[in-house]
Amino acid sequence: MAVDHRGAPLRRVERPAPVAGPGELLVRVEACGICRTDLHLLDGEVAIDRYPRVLGHQVVGLVEGDGRRVGIPWLGWTCGACEHCRAGRENLCPRARFTGRDIDGGFAEMTVADERFCFDVPAGLPAEQAAPLLCAGLIGHRCLRFCGDAQRLGLYGFGAAAHLVCQVAVWEGRSVAAVTRAGDTAAQDLAGTLGAAWAGTADEVPPGSLDAAIIFAPVGELVPAALRAVAPGGVVVLGGIHMSEIPPLPYELLWGERTLRSVANLTRQDAREFLALAPRAGIRTHVTTYPLELAAVALEDLRAGRFAGAAVVVP
Ligand SMILES: [Zn+2]
Ligand SMILES: [Zn+2]
Repeated sequence: MAVDHRGAPLRRVERPAPVAGPGELLVRVEACGICRTDLHLLDGEVAIDRYPRVLGHQVVGLVEGDGRRVGIPWLGWTCGACEHCRAGRENLCPRARFTGRDIDGGFAEMTVADERFCFDVPAGLPAEQAAPLLCAGLIGHRCLRFCGDAQRLGLYGFGAAAHLVCQVAVWEGRSVAAVTRAGDTAAQDLAGTLGAAWAGTADEVPPGSLDAAIIFAPVGELVPAALRAVAPGGVVVLGGIHMSEIPPLPYELLWGERTLRSVANLTRQDAREFLALAPRAGIRTHVTTYPLELAAVALEDLRAGRFAGAAVVVP
């Protein structure tokens, strides 16, 4: 399922199987998660430099030849030589290439990936359950790390990433407040099932104040709302790759040593940490499955909030 130009819909195309070069793996895709970033790519809010492009950056599949199951995340290649790469911040590498943006991704039957950026996925998890760990899980994990030891955690936007972060946070003994779109009772119910102490909308105020908040929804208005809900010394982490304009911020919302920061991409260290942590924390993915041919439907369902938790496409 490829996209031909900015603003074009996903289109089914037939291509010969890709060929793995030196250091690459040819992977038969079992499942590929869908992500809000895919919508930003489709809509042109995140630029694709070369078309046509196969989207999809949460890939689980079997390596042709040896049958090993691997996961392929968003980070597809880094230079290894720049100051960021050498300082352990390869997520910020200016030459980084990303799966499903600069490299053809997993909305396909077969894909090719640099072996150094592929990971073993937790044994015993079906591919559909494992795929959302590769972006929702990894980015969520990186966001949660930047919350330090915050006891009361707010999650703004309770989709694929938040439903995984919620489980880790509850397992770590934190208290979670889930903030959803108005009327999204499915997401609020899921949050309750996963151990959230409170679920509501951004107009409501979670009881007590928060020590940290993570905003996954691409909605700039949530930034002042989250800062208002966070106690002095607290942090607000922005987990998305794109966000609508942030309204003017009265300084008093940031005053009191509150921190506002974004999270960009992931490092391979994040992947190793989270994929080891997920089975220990007993993470279960709440997943809706679509056939690959319906990837465009899956993405529009994501846009409209028509499923709770995560969704994957299966060839
Ligand atoms: Zn993603
Ligand atoms: Zn680099």
